[in-house]
Amino acid sequence: MNLFEYTLDTSRQGFYNITGQVREAAASSGVADGFAVVYCPHTTAGITINENADPDVARDLQVGLDKAFPRRPEFLHGEGNSHAHLKASAVGSSATVIIDGGKLLLGTWQGIFFCEFDPPRGRKYYVKIIGS
Ligand code: ZN
Repeated sequence: MNLFEYTLDTSRQGFYNITGQVREAAASSGVADGFAVVYCPHTTAGITINENADPDVARDLQVGLDKAFPRRPEFLHGEGNSHAHLKASAVGSSATVIIDGGKLLLGTWQGIFFCEFDPPRGRKYYVKIIGS
């Protein structure tokens, strides 16, 4: 109950803003006080909360992750996407947001992002709304 599933077709690496979908899930749940858990069931994608006001921030996060986790010839994984697995583990596969008075308790500059590290893919993510 109060579990929402969303699909996302990714064409590029990067951060996809899903704040609106999470707000929609929280609103349709009827939960006034509780939590929204946003969860990504993939191993080369993740969920994060970061700045939503300046789109350069999401771009810079991607640039930083590319620098921190480049493709390396010593990687063994046969699929050839270990750099994407590393980024997914660094970012994490879920985020939790407090719901207060029926609204997500996000900071002024914050947004919730689905992070794609191995495009193109047909992705999904879940939002679970829990009343406290
Ligand atoms: Zn892989």
